[in-house]
Amino acid sequence: MRLATITNWAYGTTVLLTLASGAAMLIASNAQQRERGAVEQRFALDAATEHVGDDIFELSDHARQYVNTGDPTYRTLYRSNLAQLGEVEARLRHLGDAGARPRELVTLRDAMHWADALQDEQQAAIAAHDAGADPRAREILFGAEYEREQDRIEQQVLRFQDQLDERTQGEVRIAAEYSSLWKSVSEIVLAMTGLLFLCVLYFVFKQRVLRPVVKLSDVVNRLAAQDYAAEPPEVGQIDEIGDMAQAIRIFRENGLERQRLEGERDADRAIRDLLSRMTQRMQGCDTLGDLQEVVQRFVPEIAPLRAGRLYLLDKPRNAVVAVCDWLAPAGSLPEFAPSACWALRRGMPHRPAGGSSGSEIDIPCAHIAAAGEGPPVDTLCLPLTAQREMLGLLYFEPVAGTAGRAGTPEVYLEMLAETVGLAIANLRLRDALREMAMADPLTGLANRRQLDQVFESLRHSADRRGDPVSCLMVDVDHFKRFNDVFGHDAGDAVLREVGALLRGATREPDFAFRHGGEEFLLLLPGLDAEQAQARGEEIRGRIAALRLTFAGEDLGPITASIGIASAPLHCAFDRLIPTADAALLHAKARGRNRVEVARLRDGKTPADQAVA
Ligand code: GH3
Ligand code: MG
Ligand code: MG
Repeated sequence: MRLATITNWAYGTTVLLTLASGAAMLIASNAQQRERGAVEQRFALDAATEHVGDDIFELSDHARQYVNTGDPTYRTLYRSNLAQLGEVEARLRHLGDAGARPRELVTLRDAMHWADALQDEQQAAIAAHDAGADPRAREILFGAEYEREQDRIEQQVLRFQDQLDERTQGEVRIAAEYSSLWKSVSEIVLAMTGLLFLCVLYFVFKQRVLRPVVKLSDVVNRLAAQDYAAEPPEVGQIDEIGDMAQAIRIFRENGLERQRLEGERDADRAIRDLLSRMTQRMQGCDTLGDLQEVVQRFVPEIAPLRAGRLYLLDKPRNAVVAVCDWLAPAGSLPEFAPSACWALRRGMPHRPAGGSSGSEIDIPCAHIAAAGEGPPVDTLCLPLTAQREMLGLLYFEPVAGTAGRAGTPEVYLEMLAETVGLAIANLRLRDALREMAMADPLTGLANRRQLDQVFESLRHSADRRGDPVSCLMVDVDHFKRFNDVFGHDAGDAVLREVGALLRGATREPDFAFRHGGEEFLLLLPGLDAEQAQARGEEIRGRIAALRLTFAGEDLGPITASIGIASAPLHCAFDRLIPTADAALLHAKARGRNRVEVARLRDGKTPADQAVA
């Protein structure tokens, strides 16, 4: 019920009770008036009857005084009093008008008739006195009979007055009781009105206003302090307080929604920050190992509810191989064929459980199905691509015990995959560029730049361990002739062939270099001069055995001269290349297609030394 309805009812009832109280008051006042009327009537009757007895007895007195004294004054007084008395009926009418009842008037009439009879005797006595019959007059007025009559009249008058008193007192009493009763009724109704008013006040202000308002104010205070756990009470009343509670409920829902959005925004920002920091760190990675470290550190932070693995595509083996994982994934094989993954097949994210809606029907990847027996989990495969090239795969599954909880949105995981894919592509590109910078494009052998690096690193190990390092300088004999006779391309073909042969001649393929033009250099760590000379002879023989045709033409014999130097036997490590170069010149000078070992520091060859 609305507050207004309750107050209207209360007003209505109060007005009715007030009217009832007013009516009771009116009745009480009426009764009081009647009481007053009864009292007034009694006074009027008292006043009217007061002289009835006196007049009668005064006449008797005047008559007796006259008889006793003979004073005519008394006779005059008697006569004037008698004249004033008038007719009995007239006097009775006067009393009847004053409110005397017929029964009372009958009593008084008897008294008056008896008084009239007595007056006859008085007049007889006065006449007897006037006639000189004084004893007779005395006998009449003072006789026993006269006295009896007089007493009887007196008694009758007293009886009349008693009757009058009795009746008027009764009337006054009844009127007073009646008045008092209605006064009480009026007071009770008034008290009820007041009580009702207080009850309504109590109900409205305490039950319907004060209590809900106190509760609502508590909730509002907590909501103002952003404590959205505070729930508005279920007021359930259709009134202003109910409207207020409803408004506070809406306010709270809005606050909760805002808090949720802020939380989402903060989480988004945190994920974006992490992603950008991860991207920065990945840009600084030099090796795949560095990259794995960054991925293992950042991905569990970005997607804390998802375990996962990073796979890379091993093209030569046609396999997808796990390189690292985080949060202990259990649902995917560590190695599988690319065709076992639908994400790699289609080049698109694959989530067989259907993502957030979960309603789509899809096929799980073979690498997941084969890994475990348990129920299918919400897995996500994200292909790693860069410049349309498939590089690998990011695999995610819910961390044990968190299935069903909303994790990081898929869009961020896709961004993550994109970032990781780009980082891998960058690493590969950097490796390729480095290789290109270090390798000779024609023969594929390392170039002089790489020679410098390798030379430096070899020097350290040679210095540390004291092992010998030998150097072979190989120069194709009369190479210019191939260019001149068969063309530059034929010359290139010769260089490629010799390069391939030399690459296979060293234990470490990286230790064969194209030193420039048609000159090659081999570093043979651990081989002393003698072993190096044997290897040089072998190489020279194999080059000499080469038979090449170019554009259908036989290029003829190919030979090379080789100069050998060995540190520390022939020279200090630093002087290894010029010393080998000098030996090469020597070989050229001595007729080409031959191997020459550098001279010892004292100017002899090892052979000379052996002879000595
Ligand atoms: P020698 O036996 O004294 O070493 O004589 P040579 O002709 O081999 O040596 P020379 O230094 O006179 O000639 C080297 C030539 O190699 C000169 C240059 O045009 C040629 N040449 C250098 N680099 C290349 C290359 O990359 N491709 C081809 N086709 N020719 C090259
Ligand atoms: Mg040459
Ligand atoms: Mg040369």
